[in-house]
Formats: sequence, C-alpha cells, structure tokens
Amino acid sequence: MQQQEPDLLKKVVALCKRRGFVYPGSDIYGGFANTYSYGPHGIELKKNIKDLWWKQFIHNRTDMVGMDGPILLHPRTWEASGHVVGFNDAMVDCKACKARFRADHLIEKALNLNVEGMDLEEINALLTKEKLTCPKCGKSDWTQARFFNLMFSTKLSKTGSNDDDIAYLRPETAQAIFLDYKNLLDTMRLQVPFGVGQIGKAFRNEITPGNFLFRVIEFEQMEIEYFIEPSTWTTVFEDWLEKMWQWCDLIGLKRDHLGLYEHPQEKLSHYSKRTVDIMFDFPFGRQELYGLAYRTDFDLSKHSEAARQSMEYTDPKTREKYIPHVVEPTFGLDRTFLALLCDAYEEQALEGDEVRTVLHLKPQIAPVKIAIFPLMKKEVLVEKAQQVLDLLRIFGNVQYDESGAIGKRYRRHDEIGTPYCVTVDFDTIEKDDTVTVRDRDTMKQERVAVKDLLNFFQKLF
Ligand code: ATP
Repeated sequence: MQQQEPDLLKKVVALCKRRGFVYPGSDIYGGFANTYSYGPHGIELKKNIKDLWWKQFIHNRTDMVGMDGPILLHPRTWEASGHVVGFNDAMVDCKACKARFRADHLIEKALNLNVEGMDLEEINALLTKEKLTCPKCGKSDWTQARFFNLMFSTKLSKTGSNDDDIAYLRPETAQAIFLDYKNLLDTMRLQVPFGVGQIGKAFRNEITPGNFLFRVIEFEQMEIEYFIEPSTWTTVFEDWLEKMWQWCDLIGLKRDHLGLYEHPQEKLSHYSKRTVDIMFDFPFGRQELYGLAYRTDFDLSKHSEAARQSMEYTDPKTREKYIPHVVEPTFGLDRTFLALLCDAYEEQALEGDEVRTVLHLKPQIAPVKIAIFPLMKKEVLVEKAQQVLDLLRIFGNVQYDESGAIGKRYRRHDEIGTPYCVTVDFDTIEKDDTVTVRDRDTMKQERVAVKDLLNFFQKLF
C-alpha cells in the first residue's frame, strides 16, 4: 500500500473550490452536509470520464447495450431485491458527545474484528464487554446499536395515505436493468452472454458520510449487469476483473495506488457469491473504488417470483431454458473523480520560492483540452487568437483566456490540468503564422504553424 500525503485531501478540496470543480452543496445556506455541486470544470471532467466509460464498455463491444432507467422504481422492486429488509447498517450513538458511528466500522477499527452477519445483541454485547471508547470524545457510554435502512424514502401524492404510497430513491442503479431485462431481450435480439450498461444517480442515507466525494448521500454509478450461462461464471468474472484493471490504466490511475480486496464468504452481500473490490489508496487510507460481484440469478429469480413473470432465456442452439446469471462490474463515478484528482495532483518547486500546482490528467479526460492566449490584449493578437480558437473547437472544450500576465495564465491552466496552451504573439502576425504550443507536463514550448495545428493536436487527443 502506497501512503498518500495526509494533507492531500485538504489541498484537493481547496483546489476543487478555487478552480470551479466542486462546490459545497447549498453553499449560500452554509452548506448541506455531504452534498456537492460540480462546477464548470468538474462537470467537464465528469462528463469525459462517463464518455470514455461508455465508449470503452458500450460502443467498443458487440455484446453490450446501454440504457437509462428511472430513479423511482416500483416499490415492490426493493422488497423483492431484499433491500427493504436487508439494506441496513447497524448504528450506535455516543451518549456523551452525540457522535454517531457505524457499529461495524467502530468495532472493526478498534478490535480488528469482522462483525458482518452479527446480530444486534452480539454487537451490543461486544460494545459493552470490550469497553470501546468513542473516537471523538474518548468516553465509553453507548446507546443500544440499532439497524438503519440506507434507502431514502419519499411519499407519492396518491389519494389516501398508507404504506403503498412510499417510493424509494434507488440505492443502486442495477435494479433498473433487471426490471427491463425482458424488454431488452424482446426488443434488442440479444443473445447470452450480453451486458447492459447504465450511468445514473443513486442515493444512500449513509450513517457516516464524509471524506469529500468518497462517501456522499447522492452519487453516480456506472454499472454493468452482464448476463451469462451459469456454468461460465468463473471465467467471465476473471475476464471482467482484467477489464476493470484496463479501465484504471486507461484513465491514468497509478497501478501502485491500486489493490484488490476479496470479500470473505461471511462478509458477502445477500445477493453475492463472490465479490472482489478494486481498492485505491486515498489520502485517508486504502478504500473501495470499484466492485465486481457475482450476483448469480438472485435478482432475476426474485423479480420473476414477485412480478410473476418468466425471466427464462432460451438458448437459440440447444433450446435449453434457464434464468441467466449475472456478473456485475460497478464503478463509482464520484470516487473515480476523487481518485483521479488525488493521483494527478502535484506541487512542483520551481526556481526561487515559486511552487507550481499541476494536475497531470490524461488529455482525454482533462476538463479543458487546449487554452488559447493572445500574448497581450492587442486587437490584432486578440483577433488571431479568436480564429485559432474557432479552428481548435473540434477538440472539445477549448478556452480563450486573455486576462493577466501570460505566466499567471499558464499557472491557472496547470491547476485545472489543461494539457496544452497555445499563444499567439507578434511573430504569428508579423513573421511566419506560427504559434507557441506549451506542454503542461514538461513546460516545453514549440512553434507550430497555424496550418499544421489540426494535425498536431489530432495526434495528441
Ligand atoms: P462501501 O463499502 O464503501 O459502503 P459498497 O460496497 O456499499 O461501498 P457498492 O454497493 O458496491 O458499494 O456500490 C458500488 C460503487 O458505488 C462503489 O464501488 C463506490 O464506487 C460507489 N459508492 C457506493 N456508495 C457510495 C457513496 N455513499 N458515495 C459515493 N460513492 C459510493
């Protein structure tokens, strides 16, 4: 495990606010805990990650399709999937300072003990017997531990008021895919093995949210449900694990900050026969980034029973009928965003006392692809720079910047990870129609003819 600099999170949070990546949610009201807005640069980075994911897993494969299901699904979905009864964490409060904790996290940290599967009685007995102290105030005065369901519920405006009116904000995007499995089969001529990918919001009323974007109550998931013939699951599982590693390389996460965690059998979620997490060394420790689970036919079978619909698939060659099993690679988008910023962040000491903060994001995912500057605010330079801007727009989000000294503009773009800056100067106008192109990582500058710019950047993006 690679230890990241402890102050890194603070620095990343500050940069996110300063440079329009992420703002605290409802900022003018003093914030609304554990919610965030993505600003102009944040949304570009997020969108680039999503586009790359979609390209990699949907467009570049013949066995995958995409969909976008609703956030509000039929309430019976969550009964059948086991979430109403089982999507709980045990929580406990410190009576002295009122701090609230997830009981499993508290016990695991203090005693290095796995409490998965323990009932409340056992958890309470442990808290008392081991005299666990509150990490906040040091006292040992606990309320009884109790289960807390992580789903946000809301009421529909139907007449009457009873439990039938309750709907849940989905805590995972996966169920929307299971609910449309039959529609997908019937309309898209899909043959097992095939996968369905979806990117969308999920909501969890987390007991201990925190660490910036790592654990929030509203987040985005990029999920795949891959439907298979049951006997093939081990090979498919290994194959997806490899694909997930390739994805980490593709977006530029450092391999030595990544690791694997195999969930022990007794810790598996109610629907899973095997789960492996891809872990990342966040500044606050090694934590789950992505998950890969073998969900068996749990979900399709449960929905088949509850909705009284056949979920059987008929093999076109053998005519054998079976309910497909599912391997699920799941990628948290907000955690990807945070991991990328932590890995990309660097403070470089320059000559004198100057420090250059730079985000080494890959050009494909950088929020701004190219920045275009006139050397000064002189009309001829501005006009030419605007022409160059128009020429380079085909590369995506390119920005024009004329304010402040050129060095300041470079620093601004280093901080948001813009891979290339193009400057129009007097030589451009008076001499040879060339511009300088400056590389963010090496800070080297070269002159490129305006007529060659498209070719030049085509090779880099
Ligand atoms: P954890 O153990 O950290 O609570 P989990 O195992 O419950 O996570 P999954 O149910 O596997 O998470 O969700 C899939 C992915 O969604 C995770 O790998 C993670 O990237 C992301 N994710 C889950 N919960 C949150 C959250 N509260 N905030 C941000 N991202 C989340």
